[in-house]
Amino acid sequence: MSNSSPKVLIVGGGFSGIAAAKKLHKSGISFQVLEARERLGGRVFTKTLTEDLYVDFGGQWIGPTQDRMYELCREYGIEYFETYNQGKNILDLRGKIKTYTGVIPKIDLFSLLNLDWVIRKLERLARQIDLNSPWSHPKAGEFDSQTLEDFLRKNSKTNACYQVIRVGCETIFACELHELSLLHALFYIKSGTSLDCLINIKNGAQLHRIKGGMQTIVDKMAEAFPENIRFNSPVRKIEKTDSGILVISDSGSFTCEKVIFAVPPPLLEEIKIFPGLSEEKKNLIKDYPMGRVGKCFMIYKSPFWRKSGFSGQAVSDGITPFQTLFDCSPANSNYGILMGFTIGNRAKSYFELSKEDRKSQMQKLLVSYFGSEAAKSIRYEDFTMTDETWSRGCYAALMPTGAWTNFRDSYRKSADPFFFAGTEAATRWHGYIEGAVLAGEAAANEVLISLKK
Ligand SMILES: Cc1cc2nc3c(=O)[nH]c(=O)nc-3n(C[C@H](O)[C@H](O)[C@H](O)COP(=O)(O)OP(=O)(O)OC[C@H]3O[C@@H](n4cnc5c(N)ncnc54)[C@H](O)[C@@H]3O)c2cc1C
Repeated sequence: MSNSSPKVLIVGGGFSGIAAAKKLHKSGISFQVLEARERLGGRVFTKTLTEDLYVDFGGQWIGPTQDRMYELCREYGIEYFETYNQGKNILDLRGKIKTYTGVIPKIDLFSLLNLDWVIRKLERLARQIDLNSPWSHPKAGEFDSQTLEDFLRKNSKTNACYQVIRVGCETIFACELHELSLLHALFYIKSGTSLDCLINIKNGAQLHRIKGGMQTIVDKMAEAFPENIRFNSPVRKIEKTDSGILVISDSGSFTCEKVIFAVPPPLLEEIKIFPGLSEEKKNLIKDYPMGRVGKCFMIYKSPFWRKSGFSGQAVSDGITPFQTLFDCSPANSNYGILMGFTIGNRAKSYFELSKEDRKSQMQKLLVSYFGSEAAKSIRYEDFTMTDETWSRGCYAALMPTGAWTNFRDSYRKSADPFFFAGTEAATRWHGYIEGAVLAGEAAANEVLISLKK
């Protein structure tokens, strides 16, 4: 039994689904968003811990060339502030701790020259990729048959170079580097402007954080149409019938004319769709795994490390749980927060420990970096979307070897009346919140064109 008949049904209330909804709302088209969770934001999740303390368990940063995100901040009067980025950074190679300033870690000259060469090579190859058709590069077959790990091993002539570039790339992609195709890595780098932009705070993707947390933006976007959003409504089945498309969710059924899917690929695969998705899309999403990352927060009364000239940033190779650490204190510095990214296999092992052991491991490490004051934390929190039914991992799904050349752009290709959004459908800022917004708006535009036909 149908309980409503909107023209367009949007599956998923993350940034992408809500960006699509915003566009349809502006155009006066009736729509309904069905969201599986009891909140908006999906892979963006701001957790309020106390009245004056929050942490972003999911996406948190924006930076230059993410123009839509800055426009949204301006539109809703949302303030952002610069990520703390002053003082000494830590490089921890096999427990040998060194400090450095700027972006270049203190490694021997030969390794440093090698590192610069590898980065330049990745940048140069990435610039050659056409974002609309990565498979059209003359060497696409060669790039798509090797992993990013293969490339880094081949081009790193010293262990120090390999370790530093590996940790940087793991932080960018949130996976083990043998899990993604070199062609996807090159596409992703170009999509996010450059490796330099992806890796950096200054002039890079980690430049700004949102006052009040990233979820504030998506909540504001949806304020204009609360009655069009239904929570706790996972969509299970979609069927084309003589009277339209029947969408069956846990909170009821709907008939509509068009559907926008704005969910991560593993969740798209679980929706029963009749008649089904294209063979190419079906084959792609069978093996389109999500990255794996956890965010771990040690919370203090103040950012004490700043007084001793530390930035709070650290980079570490295999023997610690964290690839990288950042200062994630609030804008007013009312608290001090150090956030560690644990990624890939390190995240798997870390989250097998009890929360108490995880806290004690992180605290011990922070004492070794920042001194005894690091033992005086007031709270520890961590979170990974890998265990979340409605995310299955993060930051995004990653194309394994062969996927771009075999399946091309089948993921984002619409098949009227079905349209596909989500950050995985983005060409620009693919994998990021900006990409999610752009893909949502693009899918809504396609729907608007199709409705006019
Ligand atoms: C730890 C972490 C750190 C990150 N850091 C950053 C960062 O700093 N900057 C940045 O730009 N990006 C970052 N990202 C990536 C960014 O968060 C995502 O790219 C973006 O939020 C994806 O948005 P989306 O709308 O495409 O998908 P999602 O946010 O995944 O939204 C999909 C929605 O669909 C819902 N859903 C799923 N299945 C169904 C179903 N069957 N029926 C109904 N609803 C369903 C889900 O509940 C979810 O709300 C990070 C991600 C993570 C997890």
